[in-house]
Amino acid sequence: MKTYSCWLDTLENTLSASKTELPEQTDLTIIGAGITGLTTAIFTAKAGVNVTIIEKNQVGYGASTRNGGQTLAGLKLSPGALLKQYGKDQAVAFYRETLKAIDGLEQFLKEHNIECDFNRAGGLWAACTPGHYQGFAAAQTLLKDVYQHETHLSRR
Ligand SMILES: Cc1cc2nc3c(=O)[nH]c(=O)nc-3n(C[C@H](O)[C@H](O)[C@H](O)COP(=O)(O)OP(=O)(O)OC[C@H]3O[C@@H](n4cnc5c(N)ncnc54)[C@H](O)[C@@H]3O)c2cc1C
Repeated sequence: MKTYSCWLDTLENTLSASKTELPEQTDLTIIGAGITGLTTAIFTAKAGVNVTIIEKNQVGYGASTRNGGQTLAGLKLSPGALLKQYGKDQAVAFYRETLKAIDGLEQFLKEHNIECDFNRAGGLWAACTPGHYQGFAAAQTLLKDVYQHETHLSRR
């Protein structure tokens, strides 16, 4: 059984760390070459920062190459919980950031010619019980009224 991401088999060149010794000087050291570390590295390097990334396995070893590849709006907290915990202004600001992040990702993929079958097809939440469905209806109202985000709810 493979214990590493199967995506790595599709690469022509292995992405193992290129150096084992550290540079004498660096402006910024990033630990971990997943999406967080690599994105930070790209944006800071573009801003003229000298960046060093330390990766203990290989580039893209962690969750970043093993996830479902879904790019969804919203946070781990439900829209209702977000509102309760942070108040309207902050909750809406957080939620807006998640929408901006999708735009940002699309822009990034275009800019770097990354062919990853990116498709803005929306997200699907399926209710397993009538109670779940009622919860979705309440969330839909909240998303529309507070977050100004339109969603569609249907019963089959
Ligand atoms: C099964 C699964 C499905 C998911 N599905 C989705 C999805 O559909 N959509 C979505 O947006 N998110 C999804 N996620 C979440 C998403 O994958 C993570 O939020 C994201 O990959 C985190 O990126 P990261 O760079 O912070 O961490 P990682 O990608 O895990 O990278 C961390 C890196 O740091 C390295 N490292 C760790 N410790 C050290 C150390 N001490 N020294 C040097 N290097 C170190 C690791 O080897 C690794 O390469 C999913 C996660 C999982 C597990």
